[in-house]
Amino acid sequence: MKIEKATGWQIATVTSVHDESPRVKLFQLELPVETKFRAGQFFDIRLTAPDGYQAQRSYSITSSPDQTNSIELAIEHIRDGEVSSYFHEVVEAGSLIEVRGPFGGHFTWSPSFRKPILLIGGGSGIAPLMSMLRHRASTGGNSPALLMFSVRQEDDVLFKSELEQMARDDDKFNLIITLTRLAADHSEPFAGRATRRIDRTMIDSTVATLGGTPARAYVCGGSNFVEAIGNQLADIGLPYEEIRTERFGP
Ligand SMILES: Cc1cc2nc3c(=O)[nH]c(=O)nc-3n(C[C@H](O)[C@H](O)[C@H](O)COP(=O)(O)OP(=O)(O)OC[C@H]3O[C@@H](n4cnc5c(N)ncnc54)[C@H](O)[C@@H]3O)c2cc1C
Repeated sequence: MKIEKATGWQIATVTSVHDESPRVKLFQLELPVETKFRAGQFFDIRLTAPDGYQAQRSYSITSSPDQTNSIELAIEHIRDGEVSSYFHEVVEAGSLIEVRGPFGGHFTWSPSFRKPILLIGGGSGIAPLMSMLRHRASTGGNSPALLMFSVRQEDDVLFKSELEQMARDDDKFNLIITLTRLAADHSEPFAGRATRRIDRTMIDSTVATLGGTPARAYVCGGSNFVEAIGNQLADIGLPYEEIRTERFGP
């Protein structure tokens, strides 16, 4: 399938800003031109200072492709980061932002892929996976899906209530949230918490819920995280071309 790609920059309007976690804000951007995209794709953002200095970064779309006139972005505040700091400290509802996209073709999922998928996200790496899961839910996708979501602590669980609701509503969707720093809050009604890094043992025991090795995996997060998980997925026998990865940072 040919990926539709808008070529030029467009000015989007920020319609809302929401604190999703202590370090991540969600931004709803209204696009002036209806723009089709695929779950997993990203947009480029360009900031221009009064002296002409420009900074450009990529951000994955978290919203479902069902919406074509707006996109949602989940931006993590990186200390001293040029663009993420601007978003966290300056951008508000009504701000105008230069955007271009969508981009990316390999790291995409569409409902026509009907086989079991394994999604593994680290921190803000949940962003493109969220678009896939939202699209899967809205299109009634009923092939098995398993999300392993690794964050430091409970506060960092993005889209928590939505993901837990999805898991309750859909018996083919399994959610494993794993906390790498703090012990889980066991008063949570939802049982899917582990307190460890995702490793081979954990992957082995959880993919069993998909009924065997998944047909494809999507892994997104920081480079070290993606590298480590990618190797473990190769070890369980997933073909290289079915280990789809997206790296957000160093
Ligand atoms: C395809 C793609 C999609 C992306 N989608 C998202 C997204 O949905 N949400 C999101 O928050 N980010 C996403 N990113 C990362 C984003 O593009 C920026 O790199 C990030 O926001 C940092 O930009 P900055 O200008 O704030 O920091 P910079 O000024 O570029 O960097 C400041 C310092 O932080 C370090 N750094 C840069 N990025 C990271 C990071 N991710 N983690 C830790 N340290 C870092 C740099 O090495 C540098 O030392 C994506 C990246 C790619 C390539």
